Amino acid sequence: MNPKIARFLAQHQPATPCLVLDVDRVEENFRALRRALPLASIYYAVKANPARPVLERLVRLGSHFDAAGIEEVEACLSAGAGAAAISFGNTIKKVSAIRRAHAAGVSLFAFDSAEELAKLAEHAPGARVYCRILVENEGAEWPLSRKFGTTVECARDLMIEAGRLGLDPYGLSFHVGSQQTRTDAYEAAIGRVGMLFTDLRNAGVELRMVNLGGGFPTRYNAEIPEIDSFALAISNALTRAFGNALPEILVEPGRFIVGDAGVVSSEVVLVSQRCPDDPLRWVYLDIGRFGGLAETEGESIRYRITTPHDGGPTGPVAIAGPTCDGADIMYERSNYRLPLALAHGERVELLATGAYVTTYASQGFNGFAPLTEHYV
Ligand SMILES: *Cc1c(COP(=O)(O)O)cnc(C)c1O
Repeated sequence: MNPKIARFLAQHQPATPCLVLDVDRVEENFRALRRALPLASIYYAVKANPARPVLERLVRLGSHFDAAGIEEVEACLSAGAGAAAISFGNTIKKVSAIRRAHAAGVSLFAFDSAEELAKLAEHAPGARVYCRILVENEGAEWPLSRKFGTTVECARDLMIEAGRLGLDPYGLSFHVGSQQTRTDAYEAAIGRVGMLFTDLRNAGVELRMVNLGGGFPTRYNAEIPEIDSFALAISNALTRAFGNALPEILVEPGRFIVGDAGVVSSEVVLVSQRCPDDPLRWVYLDIGRFGGLAETEGESIRYRITTPHDGGPTGPVAIAGPTCDGADIMYERSNYRLPLALAHGERVELLATGAYVTTYASQGFNGFAPLTEHYV
């Protein structure tokens, strides 16, 4: 475990469940990505962890921000980001949110439909807009396809329409799916975007920007490619698609920046065996699907778990949360094993839980308060 977080947990024994997040690690991840992709502007996807200490550190490092809602736009501004450093990246926005963001000086907006484009033309006149296209999410452990993005053909017409509506047809975006484990997902998407650039140039629309989205993975319980492998695949694909006429490049990492910076500390509430001769033990923690571990849905994201008995003999377990809801099971089919000595009252840590945990926590379901947060 991260030594700074281990020290904090040992010294303070904070009440569980809680997230402890090392803000220096956020900085290291940001710097690693900037080193790997020096040509790209980094727009941190705020929804991964919108905590003030994270935003403030990223502001100091010169990060830009991808906001999914007006509250996130305002959190960035209040943490010191300039409006020019913020992209309103959700393709689904209330009119009131568009108006407030526009009034605050935000001038970069995503869309993927004619209807949203019309809203932008009316309520954020003159803004720079980019169209999100649909790409394969294969290889992603938390896919984002289907809900967002349009076809290349529709995107072409929409970008032409954007200019007619008085908006600035600025660029294109895609998202290859979150926790993407395959570098070639970006290559295929960049190839598509490159062809659309050419098409639109021939139609008289000169785009200036490609937004590669997020998706860069965090290490959970399996090996993943290094960030440099992603960067190499991306650079090569950009050269193939654009040659020397490289447009402005944006990336929107969320998970990669904060995922491995955080650890959840949790108390074991109960270890039980349904029948004395059943080797499977049920381990109930004081955090579960509703306490913030929403990405365990479908056992998609498989966190590493450490215990005070690591190294000792283990046995098979199912791992569940503390609520009375039958859906509150994290892992039943993923062959988790935990030490046989593990007992109720002990603490375990779930590693790499810095992304998409605090914000997914429910409000008082079964009376349980959302997890507390410590930024160190
Ligand atoms: C969620 C999201 C991101 C961040 O994705 P990660 O997989 O966490 O990097 C980036 N861009 C958009 C538009 C998103 O919706």
